[in-house]
Amino acid sequence: MTDRNDGPAPQSSLAGAISRRRTFAIISHPDAGKTTLTERILRAGGAIQLAGNVRAKGERRRTRSDWMGIERDRGISVVTSVMTFEYGGCVFNLLDTPGHEDFSEDTYRTLTAVDSAVMVIDAAKGIEDRTRKLFEICRLRDIPIVTFINKMDRESRDPFEILDEISSSLALDTTPLTWPVGRAATFVGTYDIRNDTVHTTIPVEESDPRMVQVREELELVDAALPEFDRESFDEGHLTPVFFGSAMKEIGVTDLLDALVAFGPAPRAQNTESRTVTADEPQMAALVFKIQANMDPNHRDRIAFARVCSGRLTRGMRLLNTRTGKSFVLHTPQFFFARDRQLAEEAFAGDVVGIPNHGTLRIGDTLTEGETIRFTGVPHFAPEILRRVRLDDAMKAKKLRQALTELAEEGVVQLFRPQDGAQPIVGVVGTLQLDVLQERLKGEYGVSIGFDSTPFSLARWATGDRTKLEAFMMANRSSMADDLDGDPVFLASSGFMMRRTEEMNPELAFHDIKQIG
Ligand code: GDP
Repeated sequence: MTDRNDGPAPQSSLAGAISRRRTFAIISHPDAGKTTLTERILRAGGAIQLAGNVRAKGERRRTRSDWMGIERDRGISVVTSVMTFEYGGCVFNLLDTPGHEDFSEDTYRTLTAVDSAVMVIDAAKGIEDRTRKLFEICRLRDIPIVTFINKMDRESRDPFEILDEISSSLALDTTPLTWPVGRAATFVGTYDIRNDTVHTTIPVEESDPRMVQVREELELVDAALPEFDRESFDEGHLTPVFFGSAMKEIGVTDLLDALVAFGPAPRAQNTESRTVTADEPQMAALVFKIQANMDPNHRDRIAFARVCSGRLTRGMRLLNTRTGKSFVLHTPQFFFARDRQLAEEAFAGDVVGIPNHGTLRIGDTLTEGETIRFTGVPHFAPEILRRVRLDDAMKAKKLRQALTELAEEGVVQLFRPQDGAQPIVGVVGTLQLDVLQERLKGEYGVSIGFDSTPFSLARWATGDRTKLEAFMMANRSSMADDLDGDPVFLASSGFMMRRTEEMNPELAFHDIKQIG
């Protein structure tokens, strides 16, 4: 994308600019076609000229989302990045989520920053395990879902069967807005139900058996399925459904046109004290991701912030409401498929990267002065706990710094035992441990191993200060501090955890910590 330098055009009317923002993520089970669809979407938006996958296999076409050796080697997408492009008069921010479930916390945080999600389903496989999990996260947050049934160019299930599965297994009403013209090898495009137009790769007459089939099946659709209802969609109860083939570039613009037409504009966001609506004039933003050393040529640390209200401008002074410190926003950036560029201004819905040296953390709220804090960015209790073993004792200080930085980035959670023992890292999936090990070595020159711990559960302990302190004294060898210095109780088993809870009814033990 080196020849592209026209970012989102400056806007004069705040409300107008905000209503043109579409910030979304694509969710799917691995292999359903998320990468292919992402690439086709970016191409439709003019964001990439090169053919081929976003997750390019070749050296020359390497993109930002495979910056890390581990991703290249295993062919998985680990990091979350954002891609901005324009289409149909709207500014789209596509937030990429890691495909592997070991990075689910990252995915969850990314979903706190979107206004809608596109759910990609493999037409032959229907709803798969990971589709369902990601869908449930969206439902928790009432995120409207647009469905794209992919791989219609292959042998697939009957469209009615897929629609039925979506509504019965996800408890989600479906309204097809397009219908496939032909199937498998004869699939040539889509019929746009609302506009009564066909989008096919070759001319198809009304008398063509494929069109005859469309007309017949649409009678059934009319009889059996609800009409598209905007409110129901906005509330996350109904999904508009599109059919297509990302690979053959069929149905991709149907999807984008729909997002332009009714893809929700930036939603209101909750803070501890009030709800912030997108069109408020005062700027407020939420940091939902930190990423270090994204590009070997810019060894920096980027905080990704979603603008939740108002207009952000370069050079403005921002208050970090967690620390109470303010700073001047010198170099906010927009990201494109292959490039980044200074963001002179950004509006609610946009995601900007803010280079920093560790002053910004996940969950931070940035404002023009108001002391609010956005809620809803969680830490989940890790499911795997390991003690870090340092191979070279001389590097203890370096390790400490590196672990802190990587934990701030959300690569792992870090627990410092209160009895002074070696740090413990907590993860949801073991792949995170591999990433930690590789990045410590590659980026900090520290090699480590992992030892098992007697602990299998971590819970944030809260309660009356005196009682909490007495509890911590009595359980010193099972207590640790997290990155923010909040106390965490480590238990050897679920049984021990329940016993501890029973014996300390005045304290609460949480498996989710809200940050921000
Ligand atoms: P992801 O794991 O969800 O990102 O899936 P990919 O985009 O990497 O696709 C997985 C495989 O399915 C690749 O081999 C793609 O070429 C293939 N694929 C993706 N979309 C389509 C499609 O519309 N039709 C067919 N036949 N294959 C597809």
